[in-house]
Amino acid sequence: MKTNRDFIGEPPFCAAGCGFYGAREHHGLCSKFYAAFLRDQVHIVCNKHVGLLGFECGCGDLFCRAHRYPEEHGCDVDFRTAAKRRLSEKNPLCRADKMDFRI
Ligand SMILES: [Zn+2]
Ligand SMILES: [Zn+2]
Ligand SMILES: [Zn+2]
Repeated sequence: MKTNRDFIGEPPFCAAGCGFYGAREHHGLCSKFYAAFLRDQVHIVCNKHVGLLGFECGCGDLFCRAHRYPEEHGCDVDFRTAAKRRLSEKNPLCRADKMDFRI
């Protein structure tokens, strides 16, 4: 009778040695390092086919057209905050409107 015993023993710590637990489906890395790992992988692949024509993400890396969105390269940048910042920079009138609303 066979049993699934391949996961008995010590808890798997992150392979990057950060002290957090790792996940085997994440190559033994914790979620933070796995996101960085994913980004590196995509970054390397993209660099091969975009050269200097890549799109820069908020995380500072260049990606191809297909991978430029944060969710396509496991980006750990807080892109919601970044998008908000971009919006308020684009529309300075929004703030004026709100101030007018106050009596
Ligand atoms: Zn880790
Ligand atoms: Zn790509
Ligand atoms: Zn990114």
